[in-house]
Amino acid sequence: MKPITLIPLSNVCGNGVEPGPGRLTFLAAALANAFRVPCRIHRETVNVSFALDPDRRQYWSTAILQRLANASSPGERVLGVAACDLYVPVLTFVFGEAQLDGNCALVSTARLQEEFYGMPSRKELARERLIKEAVHELGHTFGLRHCRDWRCVMSSSHAVEVLDVKDAAFCVTCRSTVFG
Ligand SMILES: [Zn+2]
Ligand SMILES: [Zn+2]
Repeated sequence: MKPITLIPLSNVCGNGVEPGPGRLTFLAAALANAFRVPCRIHRETVNVSFALDPDRRQYWSTAILQRLANASSPGERVLGVAACDLYVPVLTFVFGEAQLDGNCALVSTARLQEEFYGMPSRKELARERLIKEAVHELGHTFGLRHCRDWRCVMSSSHAVEVLDVKDAAFCVTCRSTVFG
């Protein structure tokens, strides 16, 4: 199985805390464990200002995904981690996006933080959410679609409340697709 590279993404807007390389160590460890492959953190951040929609004040995730795909090598699986809020034109926002059965995925920490909803910060909770969302988006790169088992990490979640009740792990069926 291909190793995973985490790419910290930066933006000029500074919406939320930028996921600097050092802040992603916990995520790299969790992903290495979940997919049983080496997971490294890219040393430099990639600036995603080009994807900003000034009216929405959000970043177009598909454009970022395309940029990551162009820059990645076929021998690696890439996960971009952004702090800025992401969207696709038909939706208000997305937590992340991935190439189905491809090499690249993208997640944003913006809406995973309690601060976004006017609540006090809960760092541990935000980390758990990021791990779930990252495993979910990377799951799509293995060709997995949304799972009907609500506990499975591949179940669809468009709100943090839904994210919080599911597991960070694959159900038996999804697991067998990933690990063969
Ligand atoms: Zn999904
Ligand atoms: Zn499943």
